[in-house]
Amino acid sequence: MAKRQNWQLVKKDQTYTISELGELYSMSRSGIKYWIKLGLKPIESEEKKYYFRGEDVIVFLKKKNERKTLKIDVFKCFHRKGHHRIKSDKVTLLYTNVILGNKNTKQVKIIGNCEDCEGIVSKQWSERKLPEFLEFYPGIKIIKKVKSNS
Ligand SMILES: [Zn+2]
Repeated sequence: MAKRQNWQLVKKDQTYTISELGELYSMSRSGIKYWIKLGLKPIESEEKKYYFRGEDVIVFLKKKNERKTLKIDVFKCFHRKGHHRIKSDKVTLLYTNVILGNKNTKQVKIIGNCEDCEGIVSKQWSERKLPEFLEFYPGIKIIKKVKSNS
């Protein structure tokens, strides 16, 4: 899985150039430019020089990190480190009381069996994105919905 960038390195009220961001995150210019493709908006650009508001960078990185956490087909197997796939026949959804991000959506734990060793695999997902998950695994049966107290 690709590396997460620590958004706390950026100061909210500061403006950054591509090279400054590159230095902060030990990334090349093209790496930072790729962030623009991924949705980071520069406040202005003149003669190929871009400026970014710290605040925007923080929002962008938080979103980017969240996307990684939620990668649809990656589960965690409790038996083996390298296992990450789920047997796509049935799952248990465990609704938690954790609220994710700023979208007011609840965290859901998806629990199932490992495709490689039949052990327990799980992942954290968001209630809002359950339709996406169900679409990704057509025919999957939801066997239980439990509310946890924690
Ligand atoms: Zn496994």
